[in-house]
Amino acid sequence: MAQNQFLIDSDKLTPEALKRKHQVEQDPSARTDPMEYMEGMERISSDIMEKVLDQMRGYEPQEYTDADVCRALMHETCTVDDLKALLSPAALPHLEEMAVRAKQETGRHFGNTVYLFTPLYIANYCENYCVYCGFNRYNDICVKG
Ligand code: SF4
Repeated sequence: MAQNQFLIDSDKLTPEALKRKHQVEQDPSARTDPMEYMEGMERISSDIMEKVLDQMRGYEPQEYTDADVCRALMHETCTVDDLKALLSPAALPHLEEMAVRAKQETGRHFGNTVYLFTPLYIANYCENYCVYCGFNRYNDICVKG
């Protein structure tokens, strides 16, 4: 197996935690599938994912023409087919128009504002093992007294 330089162990992990870490790193079937419901989760019945996947599977970018793109740009509200046209290669000569339209739409919905999002941490202690993160409890954090 190829050595991955980004998989770093810590001597602070318990043997069980280290075993589980290695299992998850080496065996994809041991990983949690984020697309599957886990036990106890509320199940949301919706067909939206299938609808999106159906549209994606049926998308033929080469079928869209310049006329389709122009029509899409004239519509007040874009249909799914309009969006497909705007994503197609036929839209390439219209990038400037699309940028102007996108700016108008953004202004219409959000105004001239900038939103900043930041995660809110209520502790500097996390049980996860993201090697780059200072909140990872297994990282050595230099505390000056
Ligand atoms: S270790 Fe850091 S980046 Fe990873 S989940 Fe915890 S807080 Fe987030």
